[in-house]
Amino acid sequence: MGTHDAFLDGLRLAVGARHVLTDGELGAYEQDWRRRARGRALAVVLPGSTDEVAAVVRACARQGVAIVPQGGNTGLSVGSVPDASGTQLLLSLKRLHAVRAIDTANLTITVEAGCVLQDLQAAAEDAGLLFPLSLAAEGSCSIGGNLATNAGGTQVVRYGNARELCLGLEVVTARGEVWDGLSGLRKDNTGYDLRDLFIGSEGTLGIITAATLKLYPQPAARLTAWAAVPSMQAAVDLLGLAHRHLGAGLTGFEVMNRFSLSLVDKHYPQLRVPLFRDSPWCVLLENSDHESEDHARALFEQLLESALESACVTDAVVAESLAQAKALWHIRESIPLAQAEEGLNIKHDISVPISRIPAFVTETDVLLAREIPGVRLVDFGHLGDGNLHYNVQAPEGTDAAAFLREQEERINTLVFDSVARHQGSISAEHGIGSLKAATLPRYKSPVALGLMRAIKQALDPQGIMNPGRVLAPGPASDGV
Ligand code: FAD
Repeated sequence: MGTHDAFLDGLRLAVGARHVLTDGELGAYEQDWRRRARGRALAVVLPGSTDEVAAVVRACARQGVAIVPQGGNTGLSVGSVPDASGTQLLLSLKRLHAVRAIDTANLTITVEAGCVLQDLQAAAEDAGLLFPLSLAAEGSCSIGGNLATNAGGTQVVRYGNARELCLGLEVVTARGEVWDGLSGLRKDNTGYDLRDLFIGSEGTLGIITAATLKLYPQPAARLTAWAAVPSMQAAVDLLGLAHRHLGAGLTGFEVMNRFSLSLVDKHYPQLRVPLFRDSPWCVLLENSDHESEDHARALFEQLLESALESACVTDAVVAESLAQAKALWHIRESIPLAQAEEGLNIKHDISVPISRIPAFVTETDVLLAREIPGVRLVDFGHLGDGNLHYNVQAPEGTDAAAFLREQEERINTLVFDSVARHQGSISAEHGIGSLKAATLPRYKSPVALGLMRAIKQALDPQGIMNPGRVLAPGPASDGV
């Protein structure tokens, strides 16, 4: 029996033979959501407990086998699929999906990493509480993946991103030890913050197996409005007004350009996109109110009145029911899907200070139109957080695959250089993965990169945790 077979047999012993997949339907694990990369796994292993994860990692550490952790595989930066070498082990957290505990007095929930975000939201709701992290992939992404990428989504303006919602982690280290940091404490200054080190590390430092997360009271009412705004500057002015009128009630503030909404209208006409034809931008706002629906409506009316008066809004609709509110959110959440229907595209998940967004958009739009005639910009995102998905679709009627091959690098440089001129970040919420690993050094200081490499070396000296992701090039794995 070869080393390879002995290694796989060891895994079978650790997690059960039927949870080690080596042939048949591995495709769904090997293909990323955006269809940007298809890898080949040595095997897919599905441990059923933290101890089993630790046993798998120890086996990999012994053989020097690289591990790619995977949750819901909805990541947009190609971090959750193996490379094409056939030597990397894909470790799926799918079977670790239990809700371990809810502490209503401490306002916390402890769940396993593979728990689907929507199930976690439902568990909180069943306890009469709110877990506010929310994104369009919530029906399939996992909380482990959310934490590993420090996901943002649509409620960050009020509740923060995944990092801010996390009080503790359980992690299997690259050596296969278990670190139990599921404290649930809001205050704990006992040295370096290990939790924050693992959050956002995209599986390159260890495997998150469980988390203790913050819960919030459910608001008494949630109201949603859709407003047409004449410019990005007007959208920023509206955001300022919304902060002043709604205070902590402002839980969502999304912006969408006309082209992004025209794609939703084209591919999903049944969704009936409002107000987009006569306006270059639309904004979706949400007010969560802790008094009552009447109170929420009164605040919204005051806000929209003053926005219409100051001409930062030209027209608006307020949802009359929960169903209408959901329908408006559904339109916003359908943009990435409509964009995928339209064809391959180049995504930029960028952030710049909110005050600089209008100048960033104006300058970068002009630059791209001049350099790449006919280019179509799908520009939308979480304006409340200074985060735009400044995406680029090939000119109409052109071969999108060829366009990407020929232009992607050039377009990325144009956009990211513009982001840098405005003191922004090339990845606001999707992470670096392997898609942007080679680009990162152009925009991150050598000091920061040096510190990151030192941390990686200290926590994963063999370089087996998701190599080539975030920091490129990663140390090559010997495989088995
Ligand atoms: P995966 O895709 O499986 O993995 C992502 C990364 O995390 C990989 O590097 C993987 O190795 C690592 N990883 C996964 N699980 C673990 C673990 N347990 N331990 C260690 N590492 C792990 N993201 C946003 O932030 N905001 C949005 O609004 C948003 N909208 C989206 C809309 C759509 C339609 C889609 C498809 C994606 C969207 N995303 C968004 C991106 C994606 O959903 C998030 O990045 C999500 O957090 C990934 O979770 P996942 O479980 O699918 O992780």
